[in-house]
Amino acid sequence: MNFSLTDTQLLQWESIVDFSRRELNSEIRDNDQQGQFPLENWQKCAEMGLLGLLTPEEYGGLGEDLLSCAVSIEALSYGCEDSGLVHAIITQLCCIVLLNLYGSAQQKQQYLGKLSCGELIAAQSITEPDAGSDVLSMRTKVDSNGSGYSLSGGKVFISNGPLAGVVIVFAKNGEGKSSFGGDISCFLIERGTAGFSVGKPLAKMGLRTLQNSELFFDDACVPAQMMLGKSGHGMFIFNEAIEWERVLMTASHLGTMERVLGKCVEYVKTRKQFGREIGKNQSISNKIGDMKVNLELGKLMLYKMAWLKDQGKRATLEASVGKLFVSESLKSSCLDAVQIHGGYGYMQECDLERDLRDSIAATIYSGTSEMQRNIIARMLGL
Ligand SMILES: Cc1cc2nc3c(=O)[nH]c(=O)nc-3n(C[C@H](O)[C@H](O)[C@H](O)COP(=O)(O)OP(=O)(O)OC[C@H]3O[C@@H](n4cnc5c(N)ncnc54)[C@H](O)[C@@H]3O)c2cc1C
Repeated sequence: MNFSLTDTQLLQWESIVDFSRRELNSEIRDNDQQGQFPLENWQKCAEMGLLGLLTPEEYGGLGEDLLSCAVSIEALSYGCEDSGLVHAIITQLCCIVLLNLYGSAQQKQQYLGKLSCGELIAAQSITEPDAGSDVLSMRTKVDSNGSGYSLSGGKVFISNGPLAGVVIVFAKNGEGKSSFGGDISCFLIERGTAGFSVGKPLAKMGLRTLQNSELFFDDACVPAQMMLGKSGHGMFIFNEAIEWERVLMTASHLGTMERVLGKCVEYVKTRKQFGREIGKNQSISNKIGDMKVNLELGKLMLYKMAWLKDQGKRATLEASVGKLFVSESLKSSCLDAVQIHGGYGYMQECDLERDLRDSIAATIYSGTSEMQRNIIARMLGL
């Protein structure tokens, strides 16, 4: 086993941290309060190559492996304090991965370049009002019509939904709940398609710069060539997608945890009460110790998950273990960070209250913590 990152990965880490600190942190408080997506920063990230990390070079990307990409996303989240923007970028990367893995030559040609340079924004939609954790009970329906398909139904909470020019949609061609998902297929649908409309951005507790919305399909016509992968392969595609997503989300959570830890270490060394630094109290330094343990264990898990995917292997169990551990650790680190900073931690100007609000969603999206435990238990034969 080799635990060291390559020189290229280390250089990329440094340049992304430097870029994010310099370019991405100036208006976050205002954008957070107004629920405003930072389009200018999105474009800067595109120019930096961050949207094309996983896009093959022939389509204008950097063609990185997942481990290198995960290190880059960690660096981005470490330097950039706007977790909503990072989430939007990961959503884009996941859509690019799906197109690259399952798209036809024509679909790749049509979308990969535009997605990688940020000109086009993408979203992926599976969750429905009555089908969240229970994905197989989705009701969005697909029917064949003369020249293609028509979609009817609706999705909810979709990241990038209000901004997306193209959306990946999962739909089923049968009534009732699927038993194994063999009747679920996956489609690309463009904004502006008749019968496809997008709801208003949803107001959220955290990740407020990320834009989420409902999507509505009312006999929306999708040409036959817009099916992604084969008919009935929707759940196969979803299961692959979710592993990539859990790796990238975990990478971003670890970047945030490292940034928050650094801020706490700095603070407890300088803040004095009762004539000495607050870090001299074990009840404070133990919290810092726990943050570091979670960070280091999370990194080991992340690199294993990414390595498995780079070997072309399944990482269902590892992705669930890593996602569960790191998302819960992120939440507890952010809560401890606010506590360590006392009253100041509770104030907006300290920025940690925003990290805490942002962190809570991590144990919900990409499969809740309860569902990760269910998956782990199922894979152990329970
Ligand atoms: C910020 C954010 C971004 C998102 N982005 C997207 C996106 O881009 N695309 C998309 O498709 N979706 C997206 N989602 C939706 C997300 O994937 C769902 O919210 C999540 O899967 C949970 O579904 P639900 O909200 O319907 O909760 P429910 O499934 O209704 O769950 C409610 C509670 O019950 C628990 N629960 C449910 N079933 C079980 C069970 N069998 N055992 C134990 N506990 C159970 C859950 O863990 C949870 O605590 C996003 C959500 C958020 C918050």
